[in-house]
This record gives sequence, C-alpha cells and structure tokens, in this order.
Amino acid sequence: MFGKVLIANRGEIALRIQRACRELGVRTVAVHSTADAEAKYVKLADESVCIGPPASAQSYLNIPAIISAAEVTDAEAIHPGYGFLSENADFAERVEKSGFVFIGPKAETIRLMGDKVSAKDAMKVAGVPCVPGSEGALPDDPKEIVKIARTVGYPVIIKAAGGGGGRGMRVVHTEAALINAVTMTRTEAGAAFGNPVVYMEKFLENPRHIEIQVMADNFKNAVWLSERDCSMQRRHQKVIEEAPAPEVNRRAITRIGERCAEACRKIGYRGAGTFEFLYENGEFYFIEMNTRVQVEHPVTELVTGIDIVQAQIRVAAGEKLWFRQRDIEVKGHSIECRICAEDPFKFTPSPGKIGAWHPPGGPGIRVDSHVYSGYTVPSHYDSMIAKVISYGDTRDQAIRRMRIALSEMVVEGIKTNIPLHQDLLLDERFIQGGTSIHYLEEKLAAKEEALKGK
Ligand code: ADP
Repeated sequence: MFGKVLIANRGEIALRIQRACRELGVRTVAVHSTADAEAKYVKLADESVCIGPPASAQSYLNIPAIISAAEVTDAEAIHPGYGFLSENADFAERVEKSGFVFIGPKAETIRLMGDKVSAKDAMKVAGVPCVPGSEGALPDDPKEIVKIARTVGYPVIIKAAGGGGGRGMRVVHTEAALINAVTMTRTEAGAAFGNPVVYMEKFLENPRHIEIQVMADNFKNAVWLSERDCSMQRRHQKVIEEAPAPEVNRRAITRIGERCAEACRKIGYRGAGTFEFLYENGEFYFIEMNTRVQVEHPVTELVTGIDIVQAQIRVAAGEKLWFRQRDIEVKGHSIECRICAEDPFKFTPSPGKIGAWHPPGGPGIRVDSHVYSGYTVPSHYDSMIAKVISYGDTRDQAIRRMRIALSEMVVEGIKTNIPLHQDLLLDERFIQGGTSIHYLEEKLAAKEEALKGK
C-alpha cells in the first residue's frame, strides 16, 4: 500500500478520499487554493500545500503546481477525484512520467474514452449498443451533414466529442436549424473544451439515464457493481440518483452489465469507471464512459457494501480485485440528493457564509459534506455543498428516510435546493419510479406556467 497519497481536488470528494486513505492507513496531502485555505479537509489532512489563487485554472487545474506539491511532500500517488483534472489524459501522463502513480486508468484509456467519438467506436467494437447517429465525427460539408440528419431522423442532438458536465450539446428539431446549430456547437466546443469536433445522435424523446459502475484491476479482472438511475436531471445535470434502478428488467440489466465488464477487459481498463446509457423501450444505448469516481458513487456503495474509493486506491497500488462477480450482491435501495448552494427554483447560485448547520442522521442516513457552521461557500467552484444519501430495505423506506432527513436538515445563511428535493420526494411520478430524463424540466416548466397564470 502507498505510504502517502496527494488528493488533487477539493470539497466533499477531497474529504471522502481522505477518509478512504485514513482507513487504509495511508497519509494524505491536501492541495488547495487560497479560497479553500480554511477548509476542514485541509486541516484534517496530514499535510497541505497551497497551489494557487481561487481561479481553478491557476490552482486545481495547475498541473505543474500539483506535481511540485507531490514532489515536495514525497507523495507516492495522486487521486484526482471527479471534475478538474480527473479525466485529463495529459495530467495522468505527467503524473506517471514524474514517477507517481495516477489513481485511475492509464492515460491512453482516458484519452480513448474521454473523446466521445472514439469511446463510441470502441464500445461498438466491444459489442455495447450505442445511440444511433453519425458514424464518428460530423464532416465539414453542410450537404453531407443534412444527409446524415435525414438518415438519423429528427429530432437530433449535436454533441461535442470533448464535452462534459452537461455542456456542449444542442437539440435540433428541423432541417432549417441544423447547420447553424452544428456551427454554434463547434465554436462553443472549441472554446470550452479545446476540441471543435462534434457528432450527431438521435435525440431520444423519453429515455431514462441508467449507468453501470465497474471496477477493474491491473490483471484483467473486471466486475460490474450494479447500476444507478440518474434520470432526475436539470440541464443534463443530475439532481437525484438511486440504486438499483426501479422498474427495469433485471435480465436486461445483467446482460448490459456483463457487456460492460467484458468491454473493460477488452480495453484493458483499470480502476473505477462508469458506462452511461440511455434506456428507452427496454433497450440500452451507450452515451459515454466516465473514467473516474462519480459524485453518485455512494448509492452503489450502500447497496453493494463495497467501498469504491478504497477499491480505487488498492487497485492502483497493485492489488488484485478481492471480489468476483458472483460475490456482488445488491441489497436494499439507496437514494442520493445533491444539496447545492442555490435558489431552489430559480437556480441562481447562493454562495456565502453558512450560519447554523445541522446535518441529518439516524438509521440509513449518510451525509458526505465538507461544510460546517461558519464555513464560507466560495463563489469560484461548483455549488454542491453536501450529498445526503439514504438507505432502506426497500425503495419506499429509502424515500421515507430521505424525507425525514431533509426535514431535519438546517442550513442557514445561504439558500439551498433542499425545498426542491422535498418537492420531488413527494412527487407521485417519482414515488412510482422510472421517470424520464426530461421529467424534472417538464415539471419545473409546468410550475412556472402555473405561477404566471396566477
Ligand atoms: P456529459 O458528458 O456532458 O454528461 P452525456 O453524453 O453524458 O454528456 O449526456 C448527458 C445527458 O444529456 C444525458 O444524461 C441525457 O440527459 C442527455 N442526452 C445526451 N445524449 C442524448 C440523446 N441522444 N438523446 C436524449 N438526451 C441525451
């Protein structure tokens, strides 16, 4: 096992990784921007290094500063968390070239799967079904693009090969709007992701988002750790996640899970990863793979009993997977609510100083959060301040426990989206289970209309 791990991230995931390291007896180095100097996880780490000013580009995305921090502290490995540099193949390469272990897949795998066009190609070869669309990147010739769209059939969605975080996508309903949409997505993608390549997919009108968690070691062992349903989304960003996915044929899930594990073996995958699918009319369609730990990993941990972050570290340290597919048993149900510092219905960010802070507790409740009373939520980063995760023997119990948890939770001084979650936990369609990825947006639009009518 490593003696010391540097955590190249911030917020709740920095604390989550630190806890995993401590349990494994590994010392930790926190790196932080000046905006996070007072953060709890920075104080709790064995060592900390300030790597720059608040702007991410100069701190959490500053590769030389992070490598130097690993050098001066004698860390052996670097855990990238999620977001920031976690899916940056150049970073993974630099880490390894500098003599450290990157806790994640090989740089070449990140490169392959990080580009959505090459990822889809690799998945097709591995026998994983994909959303119908263009064969690879869209050509320059507008006539060709029009032809492709006619074959795919409207509505289509134009997506950036290098996109992420729900950005770099545009839905097109008519031929008249097509070329303009492609041009705009290309320009935006070039500016935001440094890669103007775009591709086309059929825009599925009523799908659910279901993803498969995988874990693989350096010895070609790969298992899938059940699925998560992340269909409750706004602007392509997840709001609530759960495991297992309600109302899905178990056989179909097993079939797709096995394909994912097989794909891992084929591409020589290492570490934790997630295959994301859209699920419509009983069919799964691959959309992308995330080559890192995900925000919603706790729901899988609760239903499988496997600590995904510890597994990442152990596999990176060269251990063989200590569980096999037949050991994976899904028990009970788990739901996660992402608590964000924002207006619950207008969604404007609400950074600032937290007054009273009372996180919930009790049977079946886990809270992953780095904040505390008196903590100032900086305006520079993602607005998520906590993840409340509930567990129950049944989905119904997990929902009831989550309702109680949110009713106990007090966050003063800033606005949070807790009221939105409370609304959703009482929503009949959510309670029934199996809502589509468009459900939340439709519900919010209906609410807006109703308010206008008043
Ligand atoms: P990102 O990397 O930005 O998260 P994804 O490719 O994973 O992008 O897509 C994010 C979300 O966008 C999906 O969960 C889904 O809600 C929506 N989406 C993506 N592709 C399609 C599609 N072909 N049809 C309908 N919705 C889609």
